[in-house]
Amino acid sequence: MSTTTTASAAELDAADPLAQFRNEFELPDGIYLVGNSLGALPKTARDMVGAELDRWGTLGVEGHFTGELAWKDYHELLTPILASLVGAHTDEVVAMNTLTVNLHLLMVSFYRPTPARHKILIEAHAFPSDHFAVESQIRQRGFDPSKSLVLVSPRDGEETLRAEDIVSTIGEHGDELALVMLPGVQYYTGQVLPLSDIVEAGHAVGAVVGFDLAHAIGNIELSLHDWDVDFAAWCSYKYLNGGPGGVAGAFVHGRHVADQTLPKFVGWWGTNPSSRFAMDTTFEAIPTVESWQLSNAPILPMAALRASLDIFDRAGGLAALRSKSVQQIEFFDRRLAETLAGRVENITPRDLSERGCQYALRVVNGDGKRVFEELEKARVLCDWREPDVIRVAPVPLYNSFDDIDRFVRILDGIVA
Ligand SMILES: *Cc1c(COP(=O)(O)O)cnc(C)c1O
Repeated sequence: MSTTTTASAAELDAADPLAQFRNEFELPDGIYLVGNSLGALPKTARDMVGAELDRWGTLGVEGHFTGELAWKDYHELLTPILASLVGAHTDEVVAMNTLTVNLHLLMVSFYRPTPARHKILIEAHAFPSDHFAVESQIRQRGFDPSKSLVLVSPRDGEETLRAEDIVSTIGEHGDELALVMLPGVQYYTGQVLPLSDIVEAGHAVGAVVGFDLAHAIGNIELSLHDWDVDFAAWCSYKYLNGGPGGVAGAFVHGRHVADQTLPKFVGWWGTNPSSRFAMDTTFEAIPTVESWQLSNAPILPMAALRASLDIFDRAGGLAALRSKSVQQIEFFDRRLAETLAGRVENITPRDLSERGCQYALRVVNGDGKRVFEELEKARVLCDWREPDVIRVAPVPLYNSFDDIDRFVRILDGIVA
């Protein structure tokens, strides 16, 4: 049995029990290493979306109510696999809206500032949409971001956040802290944050803890329920391959789902489905996270997402995928060390518990932007993030060890 310490890419691909799943995707020409930004197209998505177009064509409005795939219930088809991917119960997870929208809806419920407890802790290098959403929530409630927004940063000269700094910052703001909202996987560095420690530290000072799992879902194993996370949201177009603008998701812990005292923005898709079409104006919250739904569900992007989630299921879920991902990481690390040591560094933490499949590569001589442009010309699909990082993500569902090997060779040829 070959191991990642000596085996070639060809040997590792030959021994890979998940290798055949690559054939289930349409990949652009070249080497596709950018599933962290937009996951690849599952071939079955064409049929799944096509089937809903056919139902629309033949059934028209009756599609809402007809058959096993009745559109009024369609979102429920996504729930079990999403729940398993985030480690949640099915009444805690729903596919709806888009990510930033869900962050807002969840902050309406879970950011309840008072003059004494009004602060939100985020990272200084938060994804801009998250930063904007949080600032606007603070203003909307009549507070001032310059007093209510707490930013946690890496130490001077360091790239990634230290767990102890997050925990001590939470402690410092103590009973002024209303909400801690951090990513599962940091979008720039690829760092996995210590989520259960953060929950514990946040709850210890009486704060609510929510996570943005945009770069975590479908990448690393999660146990939101057991970690006692209050809420979370994610998008589906990165590792979940849900397609551009795909339908996002939300998690609310079972402790909160039926809490009628939570403030909430509501719509008709959150009310009891058996009275919904009676057009009654008395809101009867569905006793699950579905009560956060506003509108009837976007069936076409949900059909595309179903196609991808079905592949996750058949591949054995995150446990199987993560075990391949770890092998790919070990192989990638080894090839970088053999080939590019001293010329390209990876700022993603080394420890496997602190990273998923994404690498944040920095060209040591500062020539990163040129190197990125040459990679594009060589049809390596990856992405550039200012100021100086090339992000690449070997995705275990469809990337091969050979993709990694060819990438390293091409990079070696480009970096002076
Ligand atoms: C990708 C990403 C987003 C994008 O938000 P949308 O609402 O889906 O456009 C937001 N936050 C983080 C952390 C992301 O990685």
